Amino acid sequence: MVDESRQCTATAKSTGERCQRAAIKGGEVCHVHGGAASQVQEKAQERLNQMADTTTATIQNQITDLENEYERAEDPDEKLKIMSEMRRLWKIILDRTGHHKTERKEHTGENGGGIVIDLGDE
Ligand SMILES: [Zn+2]
Repeated sequence: MVDESRQCTATAKSTGERCQRAAIKGGEVCHVHGGAASQVQEKAQERLNQMADTTTATIQNQITDLENEYERAEDPDEKLKIMSEMRRLWKIILDRTGHHKTERKEHTGENGGGIVIDLGDE
């Protein structure tokens, strides 16, 4: 069963009912109903990027808040807690920006990589 919000919006000619396939990511139709067309895919990608940008900005604000909290915190346990929350949020951002694996080797790839945060496994 396809998630209602991700279901293709086209109507299947053969049955006259709504297509049961999943729409392409960020798009409204499946690959059979126009989702394979390059302009449709470009638009879908654009939409996905916009969504990701908004989410990333929100998370970055949260990290800034946490940094301030970290500065103010005096209890070492509290600082640790804030730090691990910051790491969690960084991980989400890295995942979103295409760093799917949070292992160090992923960041020191072809270009030598610039990211030195070793997030490791929780
Ligand atoms: Zn379809």
